[in-house]
Amino acid sequence: MKGKRIILMGPPGGGKGTQARILQDTFGIVQLSTGDMLRAAVKAGTEIGKTAQKIMEAGALVPDAVMVGVIAARIAEPDCVKGFILDGFPRTIPQAEALDAMLAERELSLDAVIEVRVPDAMIVERITGRYSCAKCGAGYHDTFQKPKVEGVCDVCGSTEFIRRKDDTAETVATRLQAYHDQTAPLLPYYEQRGLLKTIDGAAPIEDVTRQLVETVAG
Ligand code: ADP
Ligand code: ADP
Ligand code: ZN
Repeated sequence: MKGKRIILMGPPGGGKGTQARILQDTFGIVQLSTGDMLRAAVKAGTEIGKTAQKIMEAGALVPDAVMVGVIAARIAEPDCVKGFILDGFPRTIPQAEALDAMLAERELSLDAVIEVRVPDAMIVERITGRYSCAKCGAGYHDTFQKPKVEGVCDVCGSTEFIRRKDDTAETVATRLQAYHDQTAPLLPYYEQRGLLKTIDGAAPIEDVTRQLVETVAG
């Protein structure tokens, strides 16, 4: 999988971050999560963070110009030379067009766009049960992905965990609406370019990983 450039698409809470982290650790291609980048900017109190905070809490999308700037800067960093997995970007057609232009400028192209398909009915439970390690960021779920020892992070041993402010039942509807209205049009966009693959994201985590590895390798 060296040198691969992949986009993971799917609804909020669909498992993109979980899988992108596994692929990063297994294959050494870096995960680029725009959600993580924005949360870091909010925490650091930068201008981008100030713009993004309220929009994220409401479950709406941050303006394209901001997101394109964020990802353009990230893709230019040296660790991206070995390939990357985009998780949470692009989320609109203008973002996809900007990405195409960025890659073309570097004479690079995408290898695959993988839709992790999860029915809306599963999303509330996925999102409201989500939490992560405060120290290393490892992801967990109240029901589907518990730490081996209760209250202790498998990865780093920390006993502090955090929940995202936007992971509430109230924001799920807004976020799903944004996905269907603004992000789903990317599926035909990439289908027309012969890049789209779809996998079953409703399956257990290990099963989704297996499908992904097969899809990327094959
Ligand atoms: P996304 O990055 O698409 O928003 P996450 O990877 O953060 O989604 O997953 C959302 C929540 O669902 C997390 O708590 C994660 O542990 C859990 N999860 C991820 N994949 C699965 C799966 N295949 N089955 C059940 N739970 C999952
Ligand atoms: P999830 O996968 O659970 O929707 P993310 O961590 O990918 O969450 O994104 C969290 C929030 O950050 C989004 O609801 C949105 O407000 C903002 N965001 C992240 N990526 C983008 C993007 N590419 N375009 C616009 N907004 C974004
Ligand atoms: Zn940890």
